Formats: sequence, C-alpha cells, structure tokens
Amino acid sequence: MNKEFDAVITGSGINGISAAIRLQKIGLKTLIVEQSSSPGGSTKTEELTLKNFLHDVGSAIHPMAYASPYLRTLNLESYGLEWIFPEIAFAHPFPDGSALSCYQDLDKTAAQFGEDKQSFKHLFGQLVESWENIENDLLAPLGIPKDPVNFLKFGFKALPSAKLLSNHYFKNAKSKAFFYGAAAHSCLSMESIASSSFGLVLGIMALKFNWPFPKGGAYQIVNALLSCYGEAGGDIRLNYEVNSMKDLPKASTYLFDLTPKQLLKLEGTNFTAMYRRRMENYNYGPGVFKIDWALKGPIPFLNEDCKKAGTLHIGFSAEEISESEKLVNNGEISNKPYILLAQQSRFDPSRAPDGKHTAWAYCHVPFGNTDDQTMLIEDQIEKIAPGFKDLILKKSKMSAKQLQSFNPNIIGGDINGGTQDITQLFTRPIAKSSPYATSNKYIYICSSSTPPGGGVHGMCGYHAANKVLKDHFKNIKTPRKS
Ligand SMILES: Cc1cc2nc3c(=O)[nH]c(=O)nc-3n(C[C@H](O)[C@H](O)[C@H](O)COP(=O)(O)OP(=O)(O)OC[C@H]3O[C@@H](n4cnc5c(N)ncnc54)[C@H](O)[C@@H]3O)c2cc1C
Repeated sequence: MNKEFDAVITGSGINGISAAIRLQKIGLKTLIVEQSSSPGGSTKTEELTLKNFLHDVGSAIHPMAYASPYLRTLNLESYGLEWIFPEIAFAHPFPDGSALSCYQDLDKTAAQFGEDKQSFKHLFGQLVESWENIENDLLAPLGIPKDPVNFLKFGFKALPSAKLLSNHYFKNAKSKAFFYGAAAHSCLSMESIASSSFGLVLGIMALKFNWPFPKGGAYQIVNALLSCYGEAGGDIRLNYEVNSMKDLPKASTYLFDLTPKQLLKLEGTNFTAMYRRRMENYNYGPGVFKIDWALKGPIPFLNEDCKKAGTLHIGFSAEEISESEKLVNNGEISNKPYILLAQQSRFDPSRAPDGKHTAWAYCHVPFGNTDDQTMLIEDQIEKIAPGFKDLILKKSKMSAKQLQSFNPNIIGGDINGGTQDITQLFTRPIAKSSPYATSNKYIYICSSSTPPGGGVHGMCGYHAANKVLKDHFKNIKTPRKS
C-alpha cells in the first residue's frame, strides 16, 4: 500500500506539535490535522473581552514549558519566543495584608518563613540542587532512574499527601497554606497520596527557573513551535475533524493528541476488547471554571509583594484550601474556593492598552459543572485587593462544560487530560510497558493523558514520538534528507 506519510498526528496541542517536530526533524514525512480553525489546543491567546486586551484562553503560566527537557532543545527563542520573568514567581496573600512569596532564590524565600525557615530549606534545597539529575525520569513513564539515590529522595517527599508532608515540615499555619497553594494545582484532595508531588515540582520550578510566561501571550509558544515545525518541512491542516481512521490519509503510523474517551470513539481503530475495557476505566478529574477580566488598572493588592508576582494562590488557610479541594472531588463547591490568578499585563504591556490591565483566573469545580462561580471568585479577590471589582471593564467566563466546547480534550472541564492521582500519574492511560502504544501497532497516544501528564511541556509528545521511532523507524539514527 502506498503511504502518503510516515506519521499523521491528530490534534495540534503542545503534545501533538512536539511529537510532530520530533518525527519531522529526524527526517520523517509528517502531517498534523486539527479540528479547530486555529492550532494550539489549550494554549491560545484571544481578545476575549475587549479589543487589544490579550487573554490566555487556557494555559497562562509556563514554568513547565521553559524548563521542559525537550522544548529546551528546540531553542524556541530563535523562532521569536520571548520569556517574561516576574520579580516573584508566585505569592500567597492573606486577608491581614501579609503574603508569602516564592522567589527564584531559596534563601530569600526561606527567610520569610520564620521558625519554618530551616525546614523550608530542608524540604526544597536538595531537590532544587538535584533537579537536573532527576527531571528526565520524573517527566517520563516509570523506568529505572538515572540517579536512583536522588530519585528516591524525591520519592520519599513526593509520595505522602500534601497534608502529611506540610504537617511534618512546617509549624506555622501560613507556611502550610503556602505549600497547599502549590500542591492544589493537582486538583487532588490535599489528603490524597502523592498530592505533595505537585507542590514539590512546582516549588522546585519556581525556586530554580521562576514561573515565566511568553511575551504577547501563551499562544507565542505555539507560534514558535509551528515555525520550528514548518522550517523542518512539516505540514498542518486546520478545520479537519477526525471521527474515523478513514478520515485520515494513508500513513505508516498515527499519533493521537486525544484523551482515552475520544480515542475510543474513533471508528476503525481495531483495538482489542481487552485494551478497550482497560481504557474505559480511565478516570477524569474535576473541572475548572475559568474567568478573564479587562481592567481599568492593576489589581490593588493590599500586599506590595503581590504586585510583583506573576501568579497568586488564593486560599486563606490550609484548612480552607483542603476543604475546597475535598468538596470539589466529592461533586460540591466551597463558598471559599481555592483560586489561581495570573496578572501578566503588569509585566507585559503588550497584553492591554496603555494603563489598562488583564487578569486570568480559575477555580476547581466538579466534573462537567455548569454553574457561574464569578461572585465567589471576585469576593475572595476583594478580601486581598479591596476595590478590585470597581476596576472591571468587561469579563469573559467559561464553565467546565463550556471549556469542553472550546477544546474537546477538556472532558468535563478537566484541564489535565485525566486524574493525576497515584494510580494514573505515571501509568496513564493504562499500566503498560509503554503507555504511548495501543493494542493497534500503528496507533499511538501522545496527549496529556500519557506520562508525565498535564501542563505545557511537550514531554508526552516527545516520548510518544520516540516510541514510534523505536517501533517503526529503528534504522533512522540521524536526520535523513526529505
Ligand atoms: C483553563 C486552563 C488553564 C491551564 N493553565 C495552565 C498553565 O497555566 N500552565 C500549564 O503548563 N498548563 C496549563 N493548562 C494545562 C495545559 O494547557 C494542558 O495540559 C496542555 O495544553 C495539554 O496539551 P495536549 O497537547 O495534550 O492537548 P490539547 O492542548 O488539549 O490539544 C488537543 C488538540 O486536539 C484537537 N482535537 C481534539 N479532537 C480532535 C479530533 N477529533 N480531530 C482533530 N483534532 C482534534 C483539539 O482541538 C486540540 O487542538 C491549562 C489548561 C486549561 C484548559
């Protein structure tokens, strides 16, 4: 049979494009097909509110992209990507006007923790130092680690729940809230095993790399990746929805930047009954309610340091964050939800007209939730930034359900492509020697439903592409001429 392509990739999220670049750059002939009229999946920047106000529709803060072992090799800066580094990676404000800030500096950060100062250094110091030795193993499926000693040291701290770890290390209520603020990115209950791993990885990122974001909007990452892909000779077709294998051109291999639910719906995949059954058991997590504001001025935080932070974690005690995440995982909503807020325009004037600002936020909600959480979110922000509501020019909102209309991969509003608990963290979508391969030897999955999971880092796509190379193109060791 005459094959038009070596590999066709369905879905142009960061993982789809990363997989395509990996294969195209080595000399294969690839094609990306995308159902939307614009590429990028959850990484898009649009004028959601008013003209010249640039909002990140999905992902906004990108330490994982900046620090990604694969994306780093692509030198995206040479394709026009410019990073913005806020003075403070993230801050955790409290209604009494105080805040704890995470600097790209272990000592400076630890110095704020009073009697928990040494514990903070014990918790993070060695992990920050050894990150380069363990990053490749942590951002991959389970295997034999290159540096088992440091990998195990990370594992001992990462396996307990956020509650257990913070109670062990910290005495102060605010120190615990600070750690919960980072750990709650996981969407897990703070009592669940390994919820601390998210607090640790995100903390390491902040202390080592800062939490940067692209000048001009998150979409600039996609722009740079597509320039890199185009330069290597890759092709992309938009408005191309795939519902059946018959919709795709003839190719030697097929990679899908989709979650299990979508992959199982495709006709003609010929998956075995056993593979289907196992994939059907894949779990999706809670959703998010997303809101963007066009503002008359910068957010008037009570605390001066909060004005220097790119990201804010809003949850006024460990108990409050814990309650919020526990309720969401049980299908309910707290009236004081844990909130993630970003204020990119403070550091990137290209995001809004002169003197005006944007803000981006979300809170976790039950899977598929359709409720409007605007009031709860804005009330929480008012407590740490009185006068915030008076600055609002216009807002754009998306419920968990509406997010799925924006991008069909956001099943029920789950932004991570599936629950990231201990049962699915390293072994997603199913426990298998290579989770990227399916039961059809020509079909692979490369989305955030594979290790290392959600976030803009491209590592899922990179590992899936490597598996394709190993299985089908073993003889290509160096880039071949197209
Ligand atoms: C609101 C929100 C906030 C987030 N914040 C951050 C953040 O600040 N930092 C961070 O690192 N991560 C963040 N994330 C998570 C991050 O964006 C995702 O984990 C990541 O983008 C997933 O990339 P992906 O390539 O796996 O899939 P996606 O980006 O979901 O791409 C999948 C692509 O497949 C296409 N597709 C689906 N079905 C079909 C079909 N049948 N035919 C053809 N094409 C199809 C979709 O249109 C989409 O373009 C956020 C996500 C959201 C939604």
